[in-house]
Amino acid sequence: MPSSENPALEDPITKYARVEPPLQHQPEPGLQSRMTPVPDLGEQSYVGSGRLEGRKALITGGDSGIGAAVAIAFAREGADVVIAHLPGEEEDAAHVLGLISDAGRLGTAIAVDISDRAACHRLVAETVDALGGLDILVNNAGKQIAIARVEDLDEDQFEATFRVNLFANFAITKAALPHLQPGSCIVNTASFEAYEPSPDRLDYAASKAAINNLSKGLAVQLAPRGIRVNVVAPGPVWTALQVSDGVSDEQMTHFDDENTYQRAGQPAELASAYVYLASAEASYVSGSTLSVNGGMVTP
Ligand code: NAD
Ligand code: MG
Repeated sequence: MPSSENPALEDPITKYARVEPPLQHQPEPGLQSRMTPVPDLGEQSYVGSGRLEGRKALITGGDSGIGAAVAIAFAREGADVVIAHLPGEEEDAAHVLGLISDAGRLGTAIAVDISDRAACHRLVAETVDALGGLDILVNNAGKQIAIARVEDLDEDQFEATFRVNLFANFAITKAALPHLQPGSCIVNTASFEAYEPSPDRLDYAASKAAINNLSKGLAVQLAPRGIRVNVVAPGPVWTALQVSDGVSDEQMTHFDDENTYQRAGQPAELASAYVYLASAEASYVSGSTLSVNGGMVTP
């Protein structure tokens, strides 16, 4: 919404309305197309300027939410894109593929469960086949199931969360490395939870803190090879993660209140952070975490 004094200015607090979501539940991983309201991926707003011309990107979880907004933005910036998603998410993936195609770029969707290590390696091989190479890896797929009491958080869930959020990140990164030449980059997805864990997201928050740490170590290790590694740490963003047991009912109905701006973020507001970190404009940036979280301060 433009400010009344200067129409060129957008007030970040009122740029998007509060979501005020009605209580809703879907089985994991949830379909974004069935959410109320449907998140904004920047379909109508993101304008590219050739910042990723000729680049080849793999985005895990690129069917919906943050990953989908990143996929649309990357395509509009000139990149060819593979989006990976779970089987069953084809409907959301088709929406994103349509927009990649509208941008005049090559888009491919690969259905894969990345909790399987061998599948992570296959995903990278199929991506390289589809795109003829790979120079941007966005590890974005994530699992988040809120459990109030530690007694009810079973070891299987703890392990499953780490498999998707951390181990798959490592396996996909390892598989991608032989293809990443100087100038290539990795952008990982952490969370505000890495700094201030919600008490009902012990496994999730710990995995996100680990992603931050892993990314920084890897950034230093890969610096001599000219490969940059950075992280985006989103705050509360309205996505399918929340409606598939990611938050409690109480948190869902107060989802807008979990940040300084007192409104949830939209996936569209995350995309340009990934574009910047992936682009050559970030040539002197590696080992950084960029918070996009509605004004909350992190260490
Ligand atoms: P989302 O549900 O739209 O996207 C997550 C995607 O992860 C799913 O679409 C699914 O395709 C993928 N995924 C999950 N398990 C998988 C598996 N086993 N194999 C393959 N793919 C799998 O939700 P989102 O909020 O856009 O999530 C994107 C990332 O952002 C996640 O890493 C999440 O932790 C992170 N994040 C989100 C928020 C938020 O408030 N939405 C805040 C901080 C961090
Ligand atoms: Mg999805």
